[in-house]
Amino acid sequence: MLHSFRFRLLLAFVLVIVAATGAVYFFIGQTSAAEIRRYTERSAEARIGRVEFELYRHYREHGSWEGIQPFVEQWGSLYGRRIILTDAGGVVVADSEGKLLGEQYQSDSPGRRLSPRREGGTSGVLYISPEPSTSQPTPSFREGTAPGFRSPGLSPDFPSPLGLSRSIGRFLLWGTLLAIAIALVFTFFLSRRISAPVKALALAAGHLGRGDLSQRVHLKDKGEMGDLAQAFNSMASDLERAEKMQRDMVADVAHELRTPLSNIRGYLEAIHDGVVKPDADAILSLNEEASLLSRLVDDLQELSLAEAGALKLDCQTEDIGSVIKQTVATKQTQAAAKGVSLSTELPDRLPLVNIDSRRTSQILRNLLENAIAHTSNGGGIAVSAEEQDSQVKVSVTDTGEGIPAEDLPHIFERFYRVDKSRTRITGGSGLGLTIARRLVEAQGGSIEVQSQPGKGSRFTFTVPLSHQP
Ligand code: ADP
Repeated sequence: MLHSFRFRLLLAFVLVIVAATGAVYFFIGQTSAAEIRRYTERSAEARIGRVEFELYRHYREHGSWEGIQPFVEQWGSLYGRRIILTDAGGVVVADSEGKLLGEQYQSDSPGRRLSPRREGGTSGVLYISPEPSTSQPTPSFREGTAPGFRSPGLSPDFPSPLGLSRSIGRFLLWGTLLAIAIALVFTFFLSRRISAPVKALALAAGHLGRGDLSQRVHLKDKGEMGDLAQAFNSMASDLERAEKMQRDMVADVAHELRTPLSNIRGYLEAIHDGVVKPDADAILSLNEEASLLSRLVDDLQELSLAEAGALKLDCQTEDIGSVIKQTVATKQTQAAAKGVSLSTELPDRLPLVNIDSRRTSQILRNLLENAIAHTSNGGGIAVSAEEQDSQVKVSVTDTGEGIPAEDLPHIFERFYRVDKSRTRITGGSGLGLTIARRLVEAQGGSIEVQSQPGKGSRFTFTVPLSHQP
Protein backbone atom coordinates (compact mmCIF):
# COMPACT_ATOMS: atom_id res chain seq x y z
CA MET A 1 0.00 0.00 0.00
CA LEU A 2 2.75 2.46 1.04
CA HIS A 3 4.70 1.67 -2.12
CA SER A 4 1.68 1.76 -4.38
CA PHE A 5 1.62 4.21 -7.22
CA ARG A 6 -1.70 5.62 -6.03
CA PHE A 7 -0.41 6.36 -2.54
CA ARG A 8 2.73 8.06 -3.83
CA LEU A 9 0.71 10.18 -6.19
CA LEU A 10 -1.63 11.22 -3.38
CA LEU A 11 1.33 11.96 -1.13
CA ALA A 12 2.88 14.13 -3.82
CA PHE A 13 -0.40 16.01 -4.30
CA VAL A 14 -0.84 16.58 -0.55
CA LEU A 15 2.77 17.72 -0.14
CA VAL A 16 2.42 20.20 -2.99
CA ILE A 17 -0.87 21.53 -1.63
CA VAL A 18 0.48 21.91 1.92
CA ALA A 19 3.68 23.57 0.68
CA ALA A 20 1.74 25.95 -1.56
CA THR A 21 -0.81 26.95 1.09
CA GLY A 22 1.98 27.26 3.68
CA ALA A 23 3.84 29.65 1.39
CA VAL A 24 0.68 31.64 0.64
CA TYR A 25 -0.13 31.81 4.36
CA PHE A 26 3.36 33.03 5.17
CA PHE A 27 3.48 35.74 2.50
CA ILE A 28 -0.08 36.96 3.02
CA GLY A 29 0.55 37.02 6.79
CA GLN A 30 3.74 39.02 6.39
CA THR A 31 2.38 41.62 3.98
CA SER A 32 -0.99 42.03 5.64
CA ALA A 33 0.61 42.47 9.10
CA ALA A 34 2.82 45.24 7.74
CA GLU A 35 -0.14 46.87 5.96
CA ILE A 36 -2.28 46.71 9.08
CA ARG A 37 0.48 48.23 11.20
CA ARG A 38 0.82 51.09 8.75
CA TYR A 39 -2.93 51.59 8.56
CA THR A 40 -3.28 51.53 12.35
CA GLU A 41 -0.54 54.14 12.77
CA ARG A 42 -2.07 56.36 10.12
CA SER A 43 -5.58 56.07 11.54
CA ALA A 44 -4.31 56.77 15.08
CA GLU A 45 -2.67 59.91 13.78
CA ALA A 46 -5.84 60.90 11.92
CA ARG A 47 -7.92 60.17 15.02
CA ILE A 48 -5.84 62.49 17.15
CA GLY A 49 -6.09 65.15 14.45
CA ARG A 50 -9.87 64.90 14.28
CA VAL A 51 -10.34 64.97 18.06
CA GLU A 52 -7.96 67.92 18.26
CA PHE A 53 -9.96 69.71 15.60
CA GLU A 54 -13.26 69.14 17.40
CA LEU A 55 -11.74 70.25 20.70
CA TYR A 56 -10.48 73.47 19.13
CA ARG A 57 -13.88 74.18 17.65
CA HIS A 58 -15.53 73.59 21.05
CA TYR A 59 -13.03 75.79 22.83
CA ARG A 60 -13.46 78.61 20.35
CA GLU A 61 -17.26 78.39 20.57
CA HIS A 62 -17.38 78.28 24.39
CA GLY A 63 -14.15 80.02 25.35
CA SER A 64 -13.39 77.19 27.80
CA TRP A 65 -13.60 73.39 28.18
CA GLU A 66 -17.07 73.65 29.70
CA GLY A 67 -19.45 70.95 28.50
CA ILE A 68 -16.76 68.93 26.70
CA GLN A 69 -17.14 65.77 28.87
CA PRO A 70 -20.12 64.20 26.94
CA PHE A 71 -18.29 64.65 23.65
CA VAL A 72 -15.09 63.10 24.97
CA GLU A 73 -17.14 60.16 26.28
CA GLN A 74 -18.72 59.64 22.87
CA TRP A 75 -15.42 59.89 20.99
CA GLY A 76 -13.85 57.45 23.42
CA SER A 77 -16.76 55.12 22.87
CA LEU A 78 -16.65 55.55 19.10
CA TYR A 79 -12.89 54.88 18.79
CA GLY A 80 -12.65 52.36 21.57
CA ARG A 81 -9.77 54.37 23.06
CA ARG A 82 -9.52 56.15 26.40
CA ILE A 83 -9.39 59.91 25.85
CA ILE A 84 -8.28 62.21 28.64
CA LEU A 85 -8.19 66.00 28.44
CA THR A 86 -6.47 68.09 31.12
CA ASP A 87 -6.28 71.84 31.47
CA ALA A 88 -2.94 73.65 31.28
CA GLY A 89 -2.32 72.83 34.96
CA GLY A 90 -2.74 69.07 34.47
CA VAL A 91 -6.21 68.78 36.11
CA VAL A 92 -8.50 66.38 34.21
CA VAL A 93 -11.40 68.30 32.60
CA ALA A 94 -12.71 65.37 30.55
CA ASP A 95 -12.20 61.61 30.73
CA SER A 96 -13.94 59.25 28.30
CA GLU A 97 -14.29 56.80 31.19
CA GLY A 98 -15.33 59.57 33.59
CA LYS A 99 -13.07 58.29 36.42
CA LEU A 100 -10.38 60.93 36.78
CA LEU A 101 -12.47 64.09 36.47
CA GLY A 102 -11.04 66.93 38.59
CA GLU A 103 -7.93 64.94 39.47
CA GLN A 104 -4.35 65.80 38.70
CA TYR A 105 -3.21 63.62 35.76
CA GLN A 106 0.27 62.46 35.02
CA SER A 107 1.20 60.17 32.16
CA ASP A 108 4.36 58.58 30.77
CA SER A 109 3.43 59.78 27.32
CA PRO A 110 3.85 63.50 26.69
CA GLY A 111 0.31 64.11 25.33
CA ARG A 112 -0.67 66.79 22.83
CA ARG A 113 -0.50 70.40 23.93
CA LEU A 114 -3.57 72.24 22.68
CA SER A 115 -3.45 75.96 21.83
CA PRO A 116 -6.95 76.92 20.61
CA ARG A 117 -6.61 80.61 21.66
CA ARG A 118 -5.59 83.05 19.02
CA GLU A 119 -3.15 84.74 21.36
CA GLY A 120 -1.37 81.37 21.83
CA GLY A 121 -0.47 79.60 25.05
CA THR A 122 -1.47 76.12 26.20
CA SER A 123 -5.11 75.62 27.11
CA GLY A 124 -4.97 71.92 27.65
CA VAL A 125 -3.25 68.59 27.01
CA LEU A 126 -4.85 65.71 25.15
CA TYR A 127 -4.06 62.07 25.88
CA ILE A 128 -5.38 59.24 23.71
CA SER A 129 -4.41 55.70 24.76
CA PRO A 130 -2.69 53.84 21.94
CA GLU A 131 -4.31 50.52 22.96
CA PRO A 132 -8.05 49.89 22.69
CA SER A 133 -9.85 50.85 25.87
CA THR A 134 -10.68 47.98 28.26
CA SER A 135 -14.10 49.34 29.23
CA GLN A 136 -16.96 48.39 26.97
CA PRO A 137 -18.12 51.09 24.62
CA THR A 138 -21.60 52.43 25.40
CA PRO A 139 -23.87 49.93 23.69
CA SER A 140 -26.58 52.45 22.84
CA PHE A 141 -24.07 54.85 21.31
CA ARG A 142 -24.75 56.08 17.81
CA GLU A 143 -22.81 58.66 15.89
CA GLY A 144 -24.03 62.16 16.50
CA THR A 145 -26.35 61.34 19.42
CA ALA A 146 -24.82 63.99 21.63
CA PRO A 147 -26.19 67.42 20.85
CA GLY A 148 -23.76 69.36 18.71
CA PHE A 149 -21.52 66.35 18.24
CA ARG A 150 -20.03 65.95 14.85
CA SER A 151 -18.65 62.58 14.03
CA PRO A 152 -14.90 62.79 13.34
CA GLY A 153 -15.76 60.57 10.38
CA LEU A 154 -13.30 57.77 11.00
CA SER A 155 -14.19 54.14 11.22
CA PRO A 156 -13.32 52.23 14.38
CA ASP A 157 -10.13 50.17 14.35
CA PHE A 158 -9.13 47.68 11.78
CA PRO A 159 -8.70 44.08 13.09
CA SER A 160 -5.35 43.42 14.77
CA PRO A 161 -2.58 41.72 12.69
CA LEU A 162 -2.83 38.65 14.91
CA GLY A 163 -6.61 38.41 14.44
CA LEU A 164 -6.27 38.85 10.70
CA SER A 165 -3.54 36.23 10.37
CA ARG A 166 -5.74 33.84 12.40
CA SER A 167 -8.66 34.35 10.08
CA ILE A 168 -6.40 33.94 7.00
CA GLY A 169 -5.05 30.75 8.60
CA ARG A 170 -8.58 29.44 9.16
CA PHE A 171 -9.53 30.30 5.60
CA LEU A 172 -6.43 28.59 4.20
CA LEU A 173 -6.93 25.53 6.41
CA TRP A 174 -10.40 24.98 4.98
CA GLY A 175 -9.03 25.68 1.51
CA THR A 176 -6.27 23.11 2.05
CA LEU A 177 -8.72 20.48 3.30
CA LEU A 178 -10.92 21.08 0.29
CA ALA A 179 -7.91 20.87 -2.06
CA ILE A 180 -6.81 17.59 -0.43
CA ALA A 181 -10.32 16.19 -0.89
CA ILE A 182 -10.21 17.18 -4.57
CA ALA A 183 -6.68 15.69 -4.81
CA LEU A 184 -8.07 12.39 -3.47
CA VAL A 185 -10.68 12.27 -6.21
CA PHE A 186 -8.09 13.26 -8.84
CA THR A 187 -5.62 10.67 -7.57
CA PHE A 188 -8.26 8.00 -7.83
CA PHE A 189 -8.89 8.67 -11.53
CA LEU A 190 -5.42 9.86 -12.53
CA SER A 191 -3.53 7.01 -10.89
CA ARG A 192 -5.72 4.56 -12.76
CA ARG A 193 -4.91 6.30 -16.05
CA ILE A 194 -1.19 6.57 -15.31
CA SER A 195 -0.68 3.17 -13.75
CA ALA A 196 -2.59 1.20 -16.39
CA PRO A 197 0.25 1.35 -18.96
CA VAL A 198 2.83 0.61 -16.26
CA LYS A 199 0.81 -2.45 -15.25
CA ALA A 200 0.53 -3.54 -18.88
CA LEU A 201 4.31 -3.20 -19.28
CA ALA A 202 5.01 -5.06 -16.04
CA LEU A 203 2.70 -7.87 -17.15
CA ALA A 204 4.34 -8.13 -20.57
CA ALA A 205 7.83 -7.99 -19.00
CA GLY A 206 6.82 -10.82 -16.67
CA HIS A 207 5.73 -12.98 -19.62
CA LEU A 208 8.90 -12.08 -21.48
CA GLY A 209 10.99 -13.06 -18.47
CA ARG A 210 9.25 -16.44 -18.42
CA GLY A 211 10.31 -17.05 -22.01
CA ASP A 212 7.35 -15.83 -24.08
CA LEU A 213 9.30 -13.60 -26.45
CA SER A 214 6.27 -12.83 -28.62
CA GLN A 215 4.99 -10.42 -25.94
CA ARG A 216 4.34 -6.85 -27.16
CA VAL A 217 2.50 -3.95 -25.55
CA HIS A 218 0.12 -1.75 -27.52
CA LEU A 219 -0.26 1.67 -25.92
CA LYS A 220 -1.98 4.67 -27.42
CA ASP A 221 0.00 6.93 -25.10
CA LYS A 222 2.26 9.29 -27.06
CA GLY A 223 4.40 10.58 -24.17
CA GLU A 224 7.17 8.89 -22.20
CA MET A 225 4.97 5.86 -21.62
CA GLY A 226 4.58 5.46 -25.38
CA ASP A 227 8.37 5.70 -25.77
CA LEU A 228 8.84 3.15 -23.03
CA ALA A 229 6.37 0.78 -24.69
CA GLN A 230 8.16 1.23 -27.99
CA ALA A 231 11.53 0.57 -26.36
CA PHE A 232 10.05 -2.52 -24.70
CA ASN A 233 8.68 -3.79 -28.01
CA SER A 234 11.93 -3.26 -29.84
CA MET A 235 13.82 -4.98 -27.00
CA ALA A 236 11.39 -7.92 -27.24
CA SER A 237 11.90 -8.04 -31.03
CA ASP A 238 15.69 -8.00 -30.59
CA LEU A 239 15.47 -10.79 -28.04
CA GLU A 240 13.23 -12.80 -30.34
CA ARG A 241 15.60 -12.27 -33.26
CA ALA A 242 18.63 -13.16 -31.14
CA GLU A 243 16.94 -16.29 -29.91
CA LYS A 244 16.02 -17.31 -33.44
CA MET A 245 19.61 -16.65 -34.58
CA GLN A 246 20.90 -18.81 -31.78
CA ARG A 247 18.46 -21.60 -32.65
CA ASP A 248 19.42 -21.38 -36.32
CA MET A 249 23.11 -21.35 -35.40
CA VAL A 250 22.79 -24.55 -33.37
CA ALA A 251 20.84 -26.19 -36.21
CA ASP A 252 23.44 -25.03 -38.78
CA VAL A 253 26.34 -26.19 -36.66
CA ALA A 254 24.72 -29.59 -36.09
CA HIS A 255 24.15 -29.86 -39.81
CA GLU A 256 27.73 -28.90 -40.66
CA LEU A 257 29.23 -31.28 -38.12
CA ARG A 258 27.04 -34.14 -39.24
CA THR A 259 28.65 -34.54 -42.70
CA PRO A 260 32.32 -34.97 -41.69
CA LEU A 261 31.29 -37.02 -38.66
CA SER A 262 29.17 -39.43 -40.70
CA ASN A 263 32.01 -39.67 -43.22
CA ILE A 264 34.41 -40.63 -40.45
CA ARG A 265 31.91 -43.14 -39.06
CA GLY A 266 31.32 -44.56 -42.53
CA TYR A 267 35.07 -45.10 -43.06
CA LEU A 268 35.52 -46.66 -39.63
CA GLU A 269 32.53 -48.99 -40.14
CA ALA A 270 33.80 -49.97 -43.57
CA ILE A 271 37.24 -50.73 -42.11
CA HIS A 272 35.57 -52.66 -39.27
CA ASP A 273 33.48 -54.68 -41.72
CA GLY A 274 36.59 -55.36 -43.83
CA VAL A 275 35.15 -53.48 -46.83
CA VAL A 276 37.96 -50.91 -46.75
CA LYS A 277 41.50 -51.74 -45.81
CA PRO A 278 43.02 -49.56 -43.06
CA ASP A 279 45.78 -48.46 -45.41
CA ALA A 280 47.50 -45.10 -45.93
CA ASP A 281 44.71 -43.82 -48.25
CA ALA A 282 41.99 -44.58 -45.71
CA ILE A 283 43.96 -42.89 -42.95
CA LEU A 284 44.56 -39.86 -45.19
CA SER A 285 40.81 -39.57 -45.89
CA LEU A 286 40.03 -39.91 -42.20
CA ASN A 287 42.62 -37.29 -41.42
CA GLU A 288 41.11 -34.87 -43.98
CA GLU A 289 37.67 -35.26 -42.46
CA ALA A 290 39.10 -34.76 -38.97
CA SER A 291 40.98 -31.61 -40.01
CA LEU A 292 37.82 -30.28 -41.66
CA LEU A 293 36.06 -30.80 -38.35
CA SER A 294 38.81 -29.10 -36.44
CA ARG A 295 38.84 -26.12 -38.84
CA LEU A 296 35.08 -25.87 -38.49
CA VAL A 297 35.34 -25.85 -34.71
CA ASP A 298 38.08 -23.17 -34.81
CA ASP A 299 36.03 -20.99 -37.16
CA LEU A 300 32.92 -21.44 -35.04
CA GLN A 301 34.79 -20.36 -31.96
CA GLU A 302 36.11 -17.29 -33.75
CA LEU A 303 32.66 -16.45 -35.10
CA SER A 304 30.93 -16.84 -31.74
CA LEU A 305 33.50 -14.49 -30.17
CA ALA A 306 33.01 -11.97 -32.98
CA GLU A 307 29.23 -12.15 -32.77
CA ALA A 308 29.29 -11.66 -29.01
CA GLY A 309 31.51 -8.60 -29.57
CA ALA A 310 34.15 -10.32 -27.43
CA LEU A 311 36.99 -10.31 -29.94
CA LYS A 312 40.06 -8.67 -28.52
CA LEU A 313 41.31 -6.10 -31.01
CA ASP A 314 44.64 -4.42 -30.61
CA CYS A 315 44.13 -1.41 -32.89
CA GLN A 316 47.17 0.76 -33.51
CA THR A 317 48.48 3.22 -36.03
CA GLU A 318 49.78 1.08 -38.89
CA ASP A 319 51.04 1.34 -42.43
CA ILE A 320 48.39 -0.59 -44.38
CA GLY A 321 50.73 -0.92 -47.39
CA SER A 322 53.22 -3.05 -45.52
CA VAL A 323 50.44 -5.19 -43.93
CA ILE A 324 49.13 -5.89 -47.47
CA LYS A 325 52.58 -6.69 -48.86
CA GLN A 326 53.44 -9.07 -46.00
CA THR A 327 50.11 -10.93 -46.27
CA VAL A 328 50.30 -11.22 -50.03
CA ALA A 329 53.82 -12.63 -49.69
CA THR A 330 52.53 -15.48 -47.48
CA LYS A 331 50.05 -16.51 -50.20
CA GLN A 332 52.41 -16.34 -53.21
CA THR A 333 53.37 -20.02 -53.06
CA GLN A 334 49.75 -21.16 -52.82
CA ALA A 335 48.79 -18.97 -55.80
CA ALA A 336 51.79 -20.09 -57.82
CA ALA A 337 50.97 -23.75 -57.13
CA LYS A 338 47.60 -23.15 -58.76
CA GLY A 339 49.08 -21.22 -61.65
CA VAL A 340 47.46 -17.96 -60.58
CA SER A 341 49.39 -14.67 -60.59
CA LEU A 342 49.17 -12.63 -57.40
CA SER A 343 50.18 -8.95 -57.45
CA THR A 344 49.79 -5.74 -55.45
CA GLU A 345 48.86 -2.33 -56.86
CA LEU A 346 49.58 0.25 -54.19
CA PRO A 347 49.96 4.02 -54.57
CA ASP A 348 53.29 5.58 -53.54
CA ARG A 349 51.83 7.09 -50.40
CA LEU A 350 48.99 5.79 -48.29
CA PRO A 351 47.80 7.47 -45.06
CA LEU A 352 48.35 5.71 -41.76
CA VAL A 353 45.38 3.66 -40.55
CA ASN A 354 44.06 2.57 -37.19
CA ILE A 355 43.82 -1.24 -37.30
CA ASP A 356 44.67 -4.49 -35.59
CA SER A 357 47.32 -5.62 -38.10
CA ARG A 358 46.97 -9.33 -37.18
CA ARG A 359 43.20 -9.20 -37.78
CA THR A 360 43.49 -7.16 -40.98
CA SER A 361 46.01 -9.70 -42.26
CA GLN A 362 43.51 -12.47 -41.35
CA ILE A 363 40.74 -10.71 -43.36
CA LEU A 364 43.04 -10.32 -46.34
CA ARG A 365 44.25 -13.93 -46.11
CA ASN A 366 40.65 -15.09 -46.08
CA LEU A 367 39.80 -13.09 -49.20
CA LEU A 368 42.99 -14.27 -50.93
CA GLU A 369 42.30 -17.93 -50.12
CA ASN A 370 38.81 -17.60 -51.59
CA ALA A 371 40.15 -15.81 -54.67
CA ILE A 372 42.83 -18.48 -55.22
CA ALA A 373 40.25 -21.24 -54.67
CA HIS A 374 37.82 -19.78 -57.20
CA THR A 375 40.30 -18.68 -59.88
CA SER A 376 41.53 -21.28 -62.30
CA ASN A 377 44.98 -21.79 -63.76
CA GLY A 378 46.19 -18.79 -65.77
CA GLY A 379 44.01 -16.34 -63.92
CA GLY A 380 45.18 -13.38 -61.84
CA ILE A 381 44.55 -11.78 -58.49
CA ALA A 382 45.39 -8.15 -57.65
CA VAL A 383 45.35 -6.48 -54.26
CA SER A 384 44.98 -2.69 -54.38
CA ALA A 385 44.45 0.12 -51.87
CA GLU A 386 43.41 3.77 -52.10
CA GLU A 387 42.32 6.57 -49.81
CA GLN A 388 38.66 7.56 -50.14
CA ASP A 389 36.22 9.46 -47.86
CA SER A 390 38.51 9.48 -44.81
CA GLN A 391 39.08 5.75 -45.14
CA VAL A 392 41.41 3.41 -46.92
CA LYS A 393 39.72 0.98 -49.29
CA VAL A 394 41.44 -2.36 -49.81
CA SER A 395 40.28 -4.46 -52.77
CA VAL A 396 41.00 -8.05 -53.77
CA THR A 397 40.14 -8.51 -57.44
CA ASP A 398 40.27 -11.86 -59.19
CA THR A 399 39.58 -13.07 -62.70
CA GLY A 400 37.90 -16.22 -61.38
CA GLU A 401 34.52 -17.80 -61.89
CA GLY A 402 32.55 -15.02 -60.20
CA ILE A 403 29.39 -15.33 -58.11
CA PRO A 404 25.84 -15.53 -59.51
CA ALA A 405 23.76 -12.40 -58.78
CA GLU A 406 21.19 -14.34 -56.73
CA ASP A 407 23.91 -15.59 -54.38
CA LEU A 408 25.63 -12.24 -53.91
CA PRO A 409 23.33 -10.93 -51.11
CA HIS A 410 23.89 -14.13 -49.11
CA ILE A 411 27.58 -14.90 -49.32
CA PHE A 412 28.40 -13.13 -46.03
CA GLU A 413 25.85 -15.30 -44.20
CA ARG A 414 27.30 -18.11 -42.17
CA PHE A 415 27.57 -21.55 -43.84
CA TYR A 416 26.41 -20.06 -47.14
CA ARG A 417 28.08 -21.68 -50.08
CA VAL A 418 27.39 -21.06 -53.70
CA ASP A 419 28.17 -24.64 -54.63
CA LYS A 420 28.11 -27.10 -51.75
CA SER A 421 29.74 -30.04 -53.52
CA ARG A 422 32.65 -27.95 -54.84
CA THR A 423 33.22 -26.36 -51.44
CA ARG A 424 33.65 -29.82 -50.02
CA ILE A 425 36.63 -30.21 -52.33
CA THR A 426 38.08 -26.79 -51.50
CA GLY A 427 37.49 -27.53 -47.83
CA GLY A 428 35.82 -24.24 -46.92
CA SER A 429 33.72 -24.16 -43.79
CA GLY A 430 31.33 -21.55 -45.22
CA LEU A 431 32.29 -19.23 -42.35
CA GLY A 432 35.27 -17.42 -43.89
CA LEU A 433 33.38 -14.38 -45.25
CA THR A 434 31.12 -14.20 -42.18
CA ILE A 435 34.16 -13.96 -39.94
CA ALA A 436 35.83 -11.49 -42.32
CA ARG A 437 32.80 -9.21 -42.21
CA ARG A 438 32.66 -9.32 -38.40
CA LEU A 439 36.36 -8.46 -38.18
CA VAL A 440 36.04 -5.58 -40.64
CA GLU A 441 33.05 -4.17 -38.71
CA ALA A 442 34.85 -4.61 -35.37
CA GLN A 443 37.60 -2.34 -36.74
CA GLY A 444 34.99 0.24 -37.75
CA GLY A 445 34.83 -0.52 -41.47
CA SER A 446 32.55 -2.26 -43.95
CA ILE A 447 32.91 -4.90 -46.64
CA GLU A 448 31.17 -5.35 -49.99
CA VAL A 449 31.39 -7.49 -53.08
CA GLN A 450 30.95 -6.98 -56.80
CA SER A 451 31.01 -9.94 -59.10
CA GLN A 452 30.22 -11.07 -62.61
CA PRO A 453 29.91 -14.79 -63.26
CA GLY A 454 32.64 -15.92 -65.62
CA LYS A 455 34.61 -12.69 -65.29
CA GLY A 456 35.64 -12.43 -61.69
CA SER A 457 34.92 -10.90 -58.32
CA ARG A 458 36.06 -7.93 -56.34
CA PHE A 459 35.87 -7.83 -52.53
CA THR A 460 36.44 -4.38 -51.00
CA PHE A 461 36.78 -3.59 -47.32
CA THR A 462 37.50 -0.29 -45.60
CA VAL A 463 39.70 0.57 -42.64
CA PRO A 464 39.59 3.82 -40.65
CA LEU A 465 42.38 6.40 -40.87
CA SER A 466 44.55 6.96 -37.86
CA HIS A 467 43.97 10.21 -35.98
CA GLN A 468 47.68 10.46 -35.27
CA PRO A 469 49.58 12.70 -37.67
P1 ADP B 1 34.04 -20.90 -47.73
O1 ADP B 1 34.66 -21.41 -46.53
O2 ADP B 1 33.10 -21.84 -48.38
O3 ADP B 1 35.00 -20.28 -48.68
P2 ADP B 1 33.20 -18.23 -47.40
O4 ADP B 1 32.30 -17.66 -46.40
O5 ADP B 1 34.61 -17.81 -47.40
O6 ADP B 1 33.09 -19.79 -47.21
O7 ADP B 1 32.58 -18.00 -48.82
C1 ADP B 1 31.23 -18.24 -49.05
C2 ADP B 1 30.99 -18.59 -50.49
O8 ADP B 1 31.21 -17.46 -51.34
C3 ADP B 1 31.94 -19.60 -51.01
O9 ADP B 1 31.45 -20.89 -50.77
C4 ADP B 1 32.01 -19.30 -52.48
O10 ADP B 1 30.98 -19.96 -53.14
C5 ADP B 1 31.73 -17.83 -52.55
N1 ADP B 1 32.99 -17.07 -52.83
C6 ADP B 1 33.75 -16.47 -51.90
N2 ADP B 1 34.80 -15.83 -52.49
C7 ADP B 1 34.68 -16.03 -53.82
C8 ADP B 1 35.45 -15.62 -54.98
N3 ADP B 1 36.53 -14.87 -54.87
N4 ADP B 1 35.03 -16.02 -56.18
C9 ADP B 1 33.91 -16.79 -56.30
N5 ADP B 1 33.14 -17.19 -55.25
C10 ADP B 1 33.52 -16.83 -54.03
